Amino acid sequence: MSGLVSWVAVPDGSDFPITNLPYGVFCPTDGGRADGGGGGRRIGVAIGDQVLDLGAVAARGLIDEPSQMLRAATLNEFLASGKAEWDRVRTRVTELLSEASQRGAVEKLLTAQADAEMCLPFDVADYVDFYASIDHASNVGALFRPDSPALPVNWRHLPIGYHGRAGTVVVSGTDVVRPCGQRKLPEGEAPTYGPSQRLDIEAEVGFVVGTPSERGSRVPIGNLAEHVFGVVLVNDWSARDIQAWEYVPLGPFLGKSFATTISPWVVPLPALESARIAGPVQDPEPLPYLRRAQDWGLDLTIEVECNGTVVSRPPFASMYWTADQQLAHLTVNGASLRTGDLFASGTVSGPEPGQRGSFLELSWSGREPVTLDDGSTRSFLEDGDTVVLRASGPGLNGTRIGFGPCTGTIRPAITD
Ligand code: CA
Repeated sequence: MSGLVSWVAVPDGSDFPITNLPYGVFCPTDGGRADGGGGGRRIGVAIGDQVLDLGAVAARGLIDEPSQMLRAATLNEFLASGKAEWDRVRTRVTELLSEASQRGAVEKLLTAQADAEMCLPFDVADYVDFYASIDHASNVGALFRPDSPALPVNWRHLPIGYHGRAGTVVVSGTDVVRPCGQRKLPEGEAPTYGPSQRLDIEAEVGFVVGTPSERGSRVPIGNLAEHVFGVVLVNDWSARDIQAWEYVPLGPFLGKSFATTISPWVVPLPALESARIAGPVQDPEPLPYLRRAQDWGLDLTIEVECNGTVVSRPPFASMYWTADQQLAHLTVNGASLRTGDLFASGTVSGPEPGQRGSFLELSWSGREPVTLDDGSTRSFLEDGDTVVLRASGPGLNGTRIGFGPCTGTIRPAITD
């Protein structure tokens, strides 16, 4: 793919060069192009500032399709088709968007991203969230449990995680209503009910499962690429006051289940080939089922923006536990994978203050508020705040791979 270029003009700095080609689901906001077969959801591939209508590509016979998986309203059937199909479709879409001879047939199937409303790209089956950043886990430990060691005793032995709520995973751009719940101030005698006063973000990276596994079997650590289709950005919105009161002894519950936002574009694993790096050295060495066979660290830099001010740049390369280890751990007890499963990394925080992936850490639990460009300060989110996550990493041929924005705006709590 040396020197590969698209006949579609790709603006400088675009998240979507020809080496990326992420998948999403969109609706044309103008009700559909003249030849687009009307409105409705369709699968698309991002290229530059355009989106290629993959359903229309398939309907015109420009790509072979064993079933009508590319004409569906979600990615799930394509996700379930397996790695050989993922690779075949990617190769063909690359041809269609790079060979000049294809331009006449394909160009009319492009829609400007500005005229496309992005939808949830896949039906989320099960959602698991891990806790894989040593800096985040240490910071949270110091803030939530100041009298105990910062890292739990099991932290270096297994990738800690919990099962979250798949049904409240939403696509970027969906408003987030401030949750209400029980919370108890440290000095208060009794808990109270009301809108969260410590609403926060968690900047994360999520992995999307395509190929399922059988209950009772395990996915060995070397098999990540057989099962995982691609990667999304994740904002695991968190109500710290609700979380702090409820999480002992079973972990997060209502403090996180109200909303989780994902980027509209799923970046396929092959697009991230140049971003792969070895994970950090692990001490002690993990048990054999968790020992890495391949490099599945990813050199992605996330950017956290609040109301237009970049407040943090968390480095995903620093994550202690990598996705292959998380997948092996998730299935080591024989739990099966389903198409559409989403497992997220946990908050990405680096060792420096400007690399923290949550306001809890950035403001050190409210003691050191963050100053935005307009002069206002934030310890936690206020109604009307808009948070945008972005991320990028190296792609093939010196390109830069991105995910598009993962954004959400806070709306006031419903209190009546
Ligand atoms: Ca999280």
